[in-house]
Amino acid sequence: MGGSRSTPLHVHSFLTDPASASRETVTASLALTGFSMHHTLCCMQYAVREAGDALELLKPRETLEQQAYEAMRQALRDKFAPAERITASEVARQLGVSRMPVVQAFQRLIAEGFLTMEPHKGVRVADPTPAAVRERYLTLIALENLCATESLRVAADELARDMRRQLEASSGTDSESDQAFHEVLWRRSGLPEVAAHLAVLWERGTYYRVLLFQDSRYYERRAAEHEAMVAAAESGDRDQLVEALTKHRMGGLERVLEVIARQHGRP
Ligand SMILES: [Zn+2]
Repeated sequence: MGGSRSTPLHVHSFLTDPASASRETVTASLALTGFSMHHTLCCMQYAVREAGDALELLKPRETLEQQAYEAMRQALRDKFAPAERITASEVARQLGVSRMPVVQAFQRLIAEGFLTMEPHKGVRVADPTPAAVRERYLTLIALENLCATESLRVAADELARDMRRQLEASSGTDSESDQAFHEVLWRRSGLPEVAAHLAVLWERGTYYRVLLFQDSRYYERRAAEHEAMVAAAESGDRDQLVEALTKHRMGGLERVLEVIARQHGRP
């Protein structure tokens, strides 16, 4: 589509470079030369670009909500205590954003069980009862056992290798390295939805787990339980792995309940 001699320069540049189009050049070129296939194409590209700009305007709000959500997840890990009251206005002020994305982030966190909302009491950080914590651990056990079965079925060698590597690389003295160790099992299962559920369940217990890791009395026992899991994975024995996992999680439940009881001033 070489430039015709009768086409003014700005219209010609539009025809050869549609990305440079403006409303004026589109109108001018239509008036000058009438419709052609090429014009239609150029006009469509112009419309697509305009639509893209409109979508771009919508994007920041989406991102703000995600940012508020992620900032809250971080704050729930290391700032807010269970049962602490939080308000959207205060969080919005601290993040320097409007209230709306924070309210949307709160809704998601309530649905995921990180926060609770009661009439007249507002929004609080979830403060699970011992029975609710026990239920969460039983769910973790069921889902991790499913991951163990699937991992051994689809990637037994990789599972054993990655678990061994992760165990050797981690200090074993913080919640993050414990999570990294368990994530190997979630990832190797090839079940991304189950892994996503596990991540949420796991993170809902982070506050007490961080307290738990401050107690060095548990390090040795936890390391021995992790070693038993790796040995089971290396032998490729599903029952042995499920048993080691269940034992580790039930031990973890016992330890977390001790921490919660201490935190609430119960012996
Ligand atoms: Zn562990």
